[in-house]
Amino acid sequence: MTLSGLHLLLTYTCTYACDHCFVWSSPDQSGTLTIDQLDDILRQAKDVGTIEWIYYEGGEPFLYHALLLWGVRRAAAMGFRVGIVSNAYWATSRRDAREWLRDFAGSVEDLSLSCDPYHGDVEQEERVAAATAAARDLNIPVDVIRIASPAASDAAKRVGQLPAGESALMYRGRAAERLANQATPIPWSRFTTCPHEDLREPGRVHVDPFGHVHVCQGISIGNVFATPLRTICETYEPDTHPIVGPLLAGGPAALATRYDVPRAALYADACHLCCATRSALRPRFPGTLEPAQMYGPASSA
Ligand code: SF4
Repeated sequence: MTLSGLHLLLTYTCTYACDHCFVWSSPDQSGTLTIDQLDDILRQAKDVGTIEWIYYEGGEPFLYHALLLWGVRRAAAMGFRVGIVSNAYWATSRRDAREWLRDFAGSVEDLSLSCDPYHGDVEQEERVAAATAAARDLNIPVDVIRIASPAASDAAKRVGQLPAGESALMYRGRAAERLANQATPIPWSRFTTCPHEDLREPGRVHVDPFGHVHVCQGISIGNVFATPLRTICETYEPDTHPIVGPLLAGGPAALATRYDVPRAALYADACHLCCATRSALRPRFPGTLEPAQMYGPASSA
C-alpha cells in the first residue's frame, strides 16, 4: 500500500449533526486528538516516506483552533502539503473570517468548505461566501464541497449526471439511517462491488483520534498507537482482511453472505448495505469495525 495522503480526524465533535454525515459527528460526540498524539502521527507519516498531503478534518477541526494551528504549522514545517476541510461555522463576516484564517496563510494549500442544504440554507451560504472571500484575501486556495440532495443523487443514477459542482450522496454513517428512505431502493444482491473506495490499493486513509486507520469510515486496518503506520502500510493484506477481503471478492453483498448477516430485500446503495452489515458484525470484529463513533450517535458511543 503506497499512501500519498493522510486525512486526520482531529475530532469527532462538530457544531452540526448533518443528516448526510459519513460519520456520526455532532456537538455531543466525543474523541479528540491531543498535540502529543498528533505529533506522534505526523512523525509516523514522515517515516512512511510516500505521504505528500496531510488533511485536517473531523468533525469540525476549527473547534480545536490551537490544535489545528499547531498541526498545520508542524506538518508544513515537516515538508507536507496541508489541507483543511471545514464547515466554516466561524465565518460570521469576511473580516472575522480573515482573523480566523490569518495564521494559516502560507501553510495551507487547500481549504475545502462544506456548503449544501444539509449544513443549513441561507446562513451557511453566507458563511461560506465570507470564508471564501477571506481565504482569497489571504491567498489561501479554497474550494467548496457540495453534496447533492437524495433526489438529485437518485436522478444521477438514472441519467448519470449531477448538477454542476455537486457530489453524489452516499448512504454511509448517519446518511444511511436518516436519508436512505428517500432513495429508490435496489435489491441487495446487486451490490457486488464497492463503488467508491480503492480498498486494494488505497492512496489515502483516515486516522482518527483513537489511532484507527480507516480504509473506509469504520473499517480499521490497524492502530497507529499500537503499530507504526509504516508497518501497517507494509503488512496490509486486503484479501485476508476479514472485512476488506469479502468486499473485494463481491462487494457488500458478499460481505453479508460470507457472514450470513440477516438483510432486508432492498437498500439505497452499496454503502447502505455495507454499513448495515458492518453494524451487525461489530460484536464479531472488535478492533476492526471501530470505533463506536463511526456506528452511531454519542449516546451509543
Ligand atoms: S461500499 Fe462499503 S467500503 Fe465501499 S465506500 Fe461504501 S461503505 Fe465504504
